[in-house]
Amino acid sequence: MSRPGLRHDLAELTGYHSPQVDVSVRLNTNESPYPPPPAFLEAWREEVAATPVHRYPDRAAGGLRRGLGGFLSQPAGRLFCANGSNEVLQTLLLAYGGPGRSAMVFEPSYVLHAHIANITGTAVTTAERRDDFTLDAGEAARMIGRHRPSVVFLTTPNNPTGTVEPRSAVEAVLEATAAVDGLLVVDEAYADFAPWSALDLVADDRSLVVVRTYSKVWSMAAFRLGFCVAPTEVVAHLEKVVLPYHLSVPTQAAGTVALRFVDEMRARVEAIVAERERVAGALATIDGLTVYPSGANFILFRPPARGSGGGPQESGGAVWQGLLDKDVLVRDFSRWPRLEGCLRVTVGLPSENDAFLTALKEVLG
Ligand code: PMP
Repeated sequence: MSRPGLRHDLAELTGYHSPQVDVSVRLNTNESPYPPPPAFLEAWREEVAATPVHRYPDRAAGGLRRGLGGFLSQPAGRLFCANGSNEVLQTLLLAYGGPGRSAMVFEPSYVLHAHIANITGTAVTTAERRDDFTLDAGEAARMIGRHRPSVVFLTTPNNPTGTVEPRSAVEAVLEATAAVDGLLVVDEAYADFAPWSALDLVADDRSLVVVRTYSKVWSMAAFRLGFCVAPTEVVAHLEKVVLPYHLSVPTQAAGTVALRFVDEMRARVEAIVAERERVAGALATIDGLTVYPSGANFILFRPPARGSGGGPQESGGAVWQGLLDKDVLVRDFSRWPRLEGCLRVTVGLPSENDAFLTALKEVLG
């Protein structure tokens, strides 16, 4: 028997690697530590029970887009919803990337931007952030002018570093992107935890898309729902390339019903931000440990090198394993370029954060 191999241009591709390990304290994938309110689940079940399931879902997700538009003070025509913001990113690249076009990313950042670009046959141009992981807006503009990407990805707050870009940097990158007729995609998966959002910069005559997700603040990672706010014309193009009926009834219903629980969601965000500050403060007291400022629901840190021999990579990996041995799972970035020795911890429940801090101090001796 023979079958075709993987597409030649994907020969080097590795899949997405974030181990799903069964542990008591899971702080590795930036989910909300709080389940949604019981009343949300009840209302969602009622909504789904009332739906004739032998019919396809609303292809345009009209109810969800109107509800979300009301919440965000945006017309429904500027909203595109999909199965997680990852599907939004994929649809953007299907529409605006592809063979003969390129996407620019500012590293270190969210790996899926480059990954999905590869899968869609879009060339990836890499630019670097500064040593402190902030963006050098002038250098970014020069790189955009030189490489003329069709799509520019800017993640703020950035994953995995937590870095928040100021409005002036986003505006400068937008101007540079528009000057080469490109599209700026600001990935705001974590913006609810940050002091500001680029949402109000979106306008029909601007080349800007802001991507958001229900996975984090809305406690709905399992539903897979994300969206973007984009110029009406961009939304129309996205609808042309996405599969028909891609967004299931339970997912659309979850997104609409969640909007009745805005106060609960905001209270969770406040609690997580307060915990983030507490954990960051506690990390900062550990001798030799570097903690990076975060505007998200996670914190990047570099534990001090331990013992003799081995570089920061080995040391970071050993601390990751030491935490895992104590039933605490964080994300290991210690072998990533520019993040040598670094780990990322998601902000969890206060008790989980305490368990993490205790385990870390024990591992570091
Ligand atoms: N963008 C960023 C920056 C992320 O960190 C994530 C989740 N890790 C996503 C997008 C995708 O989230 P989802 O598909 O769950 O909406």
